[in-house]
Amino acid sequence: MQLKRHAFIFAAIIICNQILAQKDPKTTEVWTPVPGVVTPGKTNTDAPSDAIILFDGKSVSGWQHKNGNEAKWTVADNAMTVKPGTGDIQSKQKFGDCQLHIEWRVTPDVTGDGQNRGNSGIFLMGRYEVQVLDNYNNINKTYVNGQAASIYKQHPPLVNACKAPGEWQTYDIIFTAPRFSEKGHVIEPARITVLHNGVLVQNNSIIWGNTVYIGSPTYEKHETKEPLIIQDHGNTTSFRNIWIREL
Ligand code: MG
Repeated sequence: MQLKRHAFIFAAIIICNQILAQKDPKTTEVWTPVPGVVTPGKTNTDAPSDAIILFDGKSVSGWQHKNGNEAKWTVADNAMTVKPGTGDIQSKQKFGDCQLHIEWRVTPDVTGDGQNRGNSGIFLMGRYEVQVLDNYNNINKTYVNGQAASIYKQHPPLVNACKAPGEWQTYDIIFTAPRFSEKGHVIEPARITVLHNGVLVQNNSIIWGNTVYIGSPTYEKHETKEPLIIQDHGNTTSFRNIWIREL
C-alpha cells in the first residue's frame, strides 16, 4: 500500500514537471558548449580561418607520389597541373571526416571523349573517388555514374553543373569516413555530400566501398585518417585553391 502511494506521488511529480517544461522555454535552450568562432572567407571559395591549406598556388610541397617521391606535377599561374605519366599525388597529411574545397579546370583545348576527356579524380581517404571529367552541356557521352561529380561507378550526380573546358570549377565536399569494427566489419558506411559550382550534386550519398573500375565496390578496413589523392589519368587537368577542414 505504502509502495503504491510512493509510486503515485512519483508519477505525479513527473507529470507536473512535464507540464511545467511545456510552459518554460528555457527547458529547451542549450547554452553550452558555445560553437567556436570561424571567420568566413570573402567569397565562398576563400579558405576560412580554421582551414588547412593543401595547395596555395605556389608549391606542391604538401603532396607526394605514392612511392614517397616529391610531387612532379607542373605548378604555374597559381595552379598545379597533372603531368601525365608521373602518377597520382597524395597529401602528406592524412584526413578522415572533413570539409574539402578544391577547384579544377579541364584544359581549354581538351581533346578525347568518354572517360578520356579531362579525366582526373579526387579520392577521399585515397579510396573513394569523386570524378573529375569534362561533361559540359552533356556533350561528352559516358556512363552517368562515371561523369563529373559522380561517385565513380556508384552514384551519378543529381544534376550536371559543369562549366565549359577552360573555366575553373569548384567542388565543396562534406565527407564522413566509414566506421569499422575491430574485426573489420563496416559499422557505418562512408557518406558524402558534394556541391559542384555551388550546386548540390551528391546529397549525403552512401558510399558502397572502395572505388573500383571493374566489379562491385567493397570495403576494406583502413585507418581513421588517410591521405587525399588526386588522380593522374593521363589528362592535363589543373587544380588550385585546395583547402580542408577536419571535422
Ligand atoms: Mg577519374
